[in-house]
Amino acid sequence: MNLVSTAIGYPYIGDNREWKRCVESFWKDAISEEKFILEMKASRLNNLKRQQSLGLEILTVGDFTFYDRMLDLATMFGLVPARYEWTGKEVDLTTYYAMARGANHVVACEMTKWFNTNYHYIVPEYEGKPLKLTKNYILDYFVEAKEELGLITKPTIIGPFTFVQLAKGYDAKSKALFILKLLPLYAQVFQQLVDAGAQWIQVEEPALVLSLTADDVKLVQEIYKQLAEEVPAAQIMLQTYFEGLSAYEELSQLPVAGIGLDFVHGEEENMASLRKHGFPKDKVLGIGMVNGRDIWRANLAEKAMNTQAVLLLSGVKEAWIQSSCSLQHVPVTTKSETKLDATLTNALSFADEKIVELTQVTSYVRDEAWPGNKSVSQSMLATEALAQHKVRKNARVKELVSQVKPEHFTRPIAFKERQALQKEALHLPDYPTTTIGSFPQSDLVKRTRTAWRKKEITDSAYAEFVKSETARWIKIQDEIGLDVLVHGEFERTDMVEYFGEKLRGFAFTEKAWVVSYGSRCVKPPIIYGDVEWTAPMTVKEVEEAQQLTSKYVKGMLTGPVTILNWSFVRDDISREQVANQIALALREEIQALEDAGIAIIQVDEPALREGLPLRKENWAEYLSWAVNAFKLATSSVKNETQIHTHMCYCEFNDFIEPIRALDADVISIETSRSHGELIQSLKQNPYELGIGLGVYDIHSPRVPSVEEIDTILKDSLEIISKEQFWVNPDCGLKTRHEEETIASLKNMVAATKKLRQQQ
Ligand code: GLN
Ligand code: ZN
Repeated sequence: MNLVSTAIGYPYIGDNREWKRCVESFWKDAISEEKFILEMKASRLNNLKRQQSLGLEILTVGDFTFYDRMLDLATMFGLVPARYEWTGKEVDLTTYYAMARGANHVVACEMTKWFNTNYHYIVPEYEGKPLKLTKNYILDYFVEAKEELGLITKPTIIGPFTFVQLAKGYDAKSKALFILKLLPLYAQVFQQLVDAGAQWIQVEEPALVLSLTADDVKLVQEIYKQLAEEVPAAQIMLQTYFEGLSAYEELSQLPVAGIGLDFVHGEEENMASLRKHGFPKDKVLGIGMVNGRDIWRANLAEKAMNTQAVLLLSGVKEAWIQSSCSLQHVPVTTKSETKLDATLTNALSFADEKIVELTQVTSYVRDEAWPGNKSVSQSMLATEALAQHKVRKNARVKELVSQVKPEHFTRPIAFKERQALQKEALHLPDYPTTTIGSFPQSDLVKRTRTAWRKKEITDSAYAEFVKSETARWIKIQDEIGLDVLVHGEFERTDMVEYFGEKLRGFAFTEKAWVVSYGSRCVKPPIIYGDVEWTAPMTVKEVEEAQQLTSKYVKGMLTGPVTILNWSFVRDDISREQVANQIALALREEIQALEDAGIAIIQVDEPALREGLPLRKENWAEYLSWAVNAFKLATSSVKNETQIHTHMCYCEFNDFIEPIRALDADVISIETSRSHGELIQSLKQNPYELGIGLGVYDIHSPRVPSVEEIDTILKDSLEIISKEQFWVNPDCGLKTRHEEETIASLKNMVAATKKLRQQQ
């Protein structure tokens, strides 16, 4: 039996987000392209050296990117939409980043969620043109590791089936042609890797864990048959993750050298498949044993025993002990954390620690040496100590949870009646304009916050600063002519952290960053105890803003499901239970806002969709408790109080029922980046509550023209009525610059005024 340890991928951002800083400096022209390329190379090599020093046996290359790995592949295959006017041989960085972020006069490619993670990828667009291999950067990374470090690594690439499933711009007919064009390019990439000495190629096919039709299965069989014929020398490790492998009976027989299965998130299904169908004896089995999605220390005895069980069931001669998915979804190392509660720190495991766990499980199973081992018992004790922590034994929270009754989940009267009462009470103009909540967090805002955190300025000086920034933006909004204002969220770094810091049960790391999209990183809090509201969290800022204007200022909260889905969550109680604890805390906050006279309260749920299980058959269960948590938080308000919510990329088509079930008086939603697709789906699925379709893309610095917005507004009017129609950008504006924000909003208001005149 041959056992080796490997990871599917490793975080590329570095201990201190050096990667992010480097990319952003390049965007700002603060460093030259040459320097940028060199720094990126250094960080790739450092990541390999680090993993090697931790004892990992097979190292991976190609898990690195300059922005996003789907975009890397698209540009590698020459899949550049015509609007970028690319004519060269290799796709230069200017074109690459224009596709990622948009540029003057050209919109960015669509961006959407990577499976059920909080990572977002760039959606490749197929326009029917010929494809070509512009540059095999995976080969470059492989050669680089070989030449610089003398390592034979395992190159990784997102597989053709997943790539095509996630791309857009084709229909059932042109899909076949797209794949036909693509496969020779994959074959070329593989051949070049083999020629350069690659022993294994990891081909990531997470789409194989989704529900597959009979046609999909046939297609996958065709793809891998063709690749095996064209590059017989390539040893492919077909890597799946996030769930069990679908159509296991057929797909486990694909002509590949190995198959990687997720024994964390797809444990039940993969075990059942192994039991029922066995595993091909001539293939290597990738055993995804250590959770690549959570931050908790593994119970090593359990992991070793489970691995043993998988080995017995599969009867393989060779296996890889690996993370359940790429470690890019977890922070780099717990070593950077110096201020956390020791009991908590001791129960944590980030990428580096998970790699050590992988090597430990590998060696324990290899030598059958886990019983009685010291690190094995330490791992158990660490988890047990956290289970006994007082933060998990909050009596008030337990009491509140026990008092929840069915009527706490619904507003007393239906939307139509509330709509009439709110119209009467609020007197808003037709097509009210508003924004999603945050305004630009300028360097000054960030610097001042950092100074305050470092205690260089006092609490009151910081509060004064936030107040003055809020006042300045209230004035700007008044001048622009927006109808419902916001305070601007200057006191918040991020929409979850801010609340987590004020609620009990959360812990905050110093450097536990993960990428959300492009260079944008988030530092999810850790919900490790019972969640409790202790004092108002947002009332002061909103109240202060309200005093400065005669317009309404919206209260601004993050919803329970989003707080849950954007945190690392304790795993000793169900997610539903944690969501309800958060909802009860927000219910108290909403009461406090109402008591302060705030008439419109927005409870953002951009991550509602993110929590969806990958398989549709499991959606209903999640949605029922997730929607209930939102309603538990929001339904205690007066009938006249208008509850807003906001979602980003929500793909209305299959989501309209749960959105309606939230029963929010108004929802604002992303539209601009999916280029009118939302409008189409609204045509098929009429929606009757208040709705603001995002009229421009805030992810790009580009200022939309009045005409452009005008067109979107007119198109939207075909599907939503005047009574329900709100006008807003498609997300918060905190990452934008002041100038472009003001210019864009002015155009938005101008287009709205034009619309009002025409009516
Ligand atoms: N209110 C938040 C903001 O404007 C919403 C952000 C989001 O949807 N991601 O920043
Ligand atoms: Zn948003």
